[in-house]
Amino acid sequence: MRFCPKCGMRLVQGKGSDGTTRLTCRKCGYDEMVINPSTNTSKMKEEKPLIQVVGEEEGDISVMPTIKIPCPKCGHDTAVWWMLQTRSADEPTTQFYRCVKCNHTWRHYA
Ligand SMILES: [Zn+2]
Ligand SMILES: [Zn+2]
Repeated sequence: MRFCPKCGMRLVQGKGSDGTTRLTCRKCGYDEMVINPSTNTSKMKEEKPLIQVVGEEEGDISVMPTIKIPCPKCGHDTAVWWMLQTRSADEPTTQFYRCVKCNHTWRHYA
């Protein structure tokens, strides 16, 4: 849910005349375009083409479980972690860690 940055009213989602999804404020007329999240898939890195990285920058890491593990970059001792299955069933599940301090992300093959 988003609120109007001008007057604080709740923004209402709708379709603009050009077919885009928009959030508009019914009180002051503020209006913004909603970026379709599916357009982000093209920026996947070559290094990990089979893996869908969960929101490299915008992911909400506060809801992910944490683990005590030293960060290879800054030495901080707590990281969030998540598991991802690669496309092929006989490949092992990949475990990812992300340092809660410096956001360095690394992976570990279970
Ligand atoms: Zn408004
Ligand atoms: Zn770190």
